[in-house]
Amino acid sequence: MSERLQKVIADAGVASRRKAEKLIATGHVTVNGDTVTAMGIKVTPQDAVEVDGVPLTQERKVYFLLYKPRGVITSAHDEKGRKTVVDLLNGVQERVYPVGRLDYDTSGLLLLTNDGELANGLMHPSFQVDKTYVARVKGIPVGEQLKQLEKGVVLDGRKTRPAKVKVIRTEKIKNYSIIQITIHEGWHHQVKRMMEKVGLPVDKLSRERFAFLTLDGLNAGEYRSLRTHEVRELY
Ligand code: URA
Repeated sequence: MSERLQKVIADAGVASRRKAEKLIATGHVTVNGDTVTAMGIKVTPQDAVEVDGVPLTQERKVYFLLYKPRGVITSAHDEKGRKTVVDLLNGVQERVYPVGRLDYDTSGLLLLTNDGELANGLMHPSFQVDKTYVARVKGIPVGEQLKQLEKGVVLDGRKTRPAKVKVIRTEKIKNYSIIQITIHEGWHHQVKRMMEKVGLPVDKLSRERFAFLTLDGLNAGEYRSLRTHEVRELY
């Protein structure tokens, strides 16, 4: 089966499709040893494609939903030797990487895949999906704080999209609350920064939903493969 060169490069996780087109146009890509700069060329799995001299590997596409525990780093390798989310996928041969990021001390739903096109798509600002978190925060929220979150909060000069917020529980004596918050973007430390900004610093954070996917049936540290219809729905 032949496919467009830029799609093959994106699927291999090297770059988004648009970036792959730039790589081709600027002479970074060879097919069977010849530099290709024209757009629209199609290749088959028998063609040897290289980007900057590095061959593409065309692995079977795999998709995992992991319940990330706290104290695990969201990356494929850690220089400090800490446990990574990829270490938790025991027995998985393919080279997968996380879709987006959860902080070291955040638990919850994380997707991992070797499908670069899907991963790039889900992380692209114009195709972001809703993500729901449960936060334990210091303090008892008042209406004005919740309204601010619902309107969107300015972080580093940029306003977030409005969040959906629901107070699950308040503990007046211990002075903390459990709040469910749904955000649309995936900025660095976004939930912690939004909460801090309105005066409700986060003690503990967990992601319980990513688009339509939930953690149902999994305990912390466990993972499952996505079902075919779930992959299709994410695309
Ligand atoms: N927002 C945060 O602050 N941290 C996360 O890990 C995810 C979202």
